[in-house]
Amino acid sequence: ARKVSIVLIGDGAVGKSAMALRFLRDQFNDEYDPTIEDSYCKHVEVDGQEYTLEITDTAGQEEYRGQWNENFMKAADGFICIYSIESLSSFKELVGMRDQIWQTKESQNVPMIVAANKCDLESAREVTVEAGKAFAAESHAFFAETSAKTGFNIQEMVVELVRAVAKN
Ligand code: GDP
Ligand code: MG
Repeated sequence: ARKVSIVLIGDGAVGKSAMALRFLRDQFNDEYDPTIEDSYCKHVEVDGQEYTLEITDTAGQEEYRGQWNENFMKAADGFICIYSIESLSSFKELVGMRDQIWQTKESQNVPMIVAANKCDLESAREVTVEAGKAFAAESHAFFAETSAKTGFNIQEMVVELVRAVAKN
């Protein structure tokens, strides 16, 4: 199986850990522990090819922006850049995070998903689908509205990222 390393990036409380839990175990937890940060492995088959995904859930980026562990970012094959549709500030934060990924990878062609999470909270929406899509397009990334709570688009998003990595 080919090894693919994926890093989850985004402001605090956007749902990085919830997404990891949903993807890995198909579960959801309402509690919020901002300190959880770990790497997990999962085997998947995409387009007839076996992959071992190593998923790294990050925490605390918002506090030490500019000092990310460059090594794990450099080693990553793909990124899931997450904001929450009910937090305009989490969306704005992603610009700088994406720029830092580009800088670290020394390329603007990095396999990337822009995930607009918490799409189950439509009534609290602060970021339009159009704005999310435009940001994804200028980031050369796929766009997906997701919900770690319902599981909407979580598997699909990871499959798209694996395909992008395979092509890269
Ligand atoms: P992180 O700081 O990015 O890792 O955020 P968490 O994954 O810990 O999630 C922060 C809070 O948002 C937790 O209370 C989660 O249960 C909740 N949450 C995460 N994803 C979703 C989602 O898709 N929908 C809803 N309604 N809540 C979510
Ligand atoms: Mg977390």
